[in-house]
Order: sequence, then structure tokens, then C-alpha cells
Amino acid sequence: MTSESSRIPPSDLVMVADLVLPCSHCGIPCTGTVMVWFLREEIRHAIEVDRPTFDILLGKLCVGERASDELPRFVTDWCASTGWMDIDAAEVGTPVPHIEMTATLTRLAQVELDERERQLFDALRRVTREGLATDSPLFVYYD
Ligand SMILES: [Zn+2]
Repeated sequence: MTSESSRIPPSDLVMVADLVLPCSHCGIPCTGTVMVWFLREEIRHAIEVDRPTFDILLGKLCVGERASDELPRFVTDWCASTGWMDIDAAEVGTPVPHIEMTATLTRLAQVELDERERQLFDALRRVTREGLATDSPLFVYYD
């Protein structure tokens, strides 16, 4: 990973999955979106989802007994609005080690998911699996 490749323009983007649902009131994703991607040959391979869906999915790991488990950093950052969730996080995305995303997915696999949450889970699993085949970490940006 070089700093060069983290400054790639947004045009170098391939959508692996676009799961953004517009707001039912205003017709745009007014509450923001979350992107997760890896780099392959300087091109971002990304999934994007609206924040509410993403928050519901990760929120399932931050409540009740699960919250007392030793959670992956990727999840505790979400719970505490730190790291990649921090308001000052770089727009080029925060790198997330595959091991953290894999640990997150392992925990989510033990949780009951509805159809939409399952779509996001599958998309995260896909981008994680494909990213593992590259030298790139995953990047996440919470807009
Ligand atoms: Zn709205």
C-alpha cells in the first residue's frame, strides 16, 4: 500500500454491489452512505450501502451479551465512533485489516438477519474474499 494508491480519483471505481436505498421521504440517501472497497490494479472494487442498513447490521453486535464479547476493532470503532467512524476519518477511506472484517463476519454469521441485512452481509463477505486475493487491505468510508 502506497500513499499514491490511496489518492485514486473516484472515477476509478467498480461497483461490486450497490445496496443504497434512498430515503422514503426525500428520495435520496439523505442519511449518508458507507463504502467498503479494496484496490485491484489501482481500481476500487466497492460496495455501497445506506447508513441505516449498515448501522442496523453492526448494531446487532453492540447490544446485549454480544457487546461484552471481545469484539473486533472494526466493530468497537463503530460502537464508539472512533477510528474509521471518527468524524475526521480520511475521505480516501480508512484501511481495515482483513482479519478484522473476517472476525466481524464470523460474528454476524451467528446473528439472525433479515433479507436486506443478509444482502449486505453477503456483499461484505464477497468484497472481503476478493480483497484477500490482492495485496490491498479493505478500506471503509462512512459518509
Ligand atoms: Zn430523507
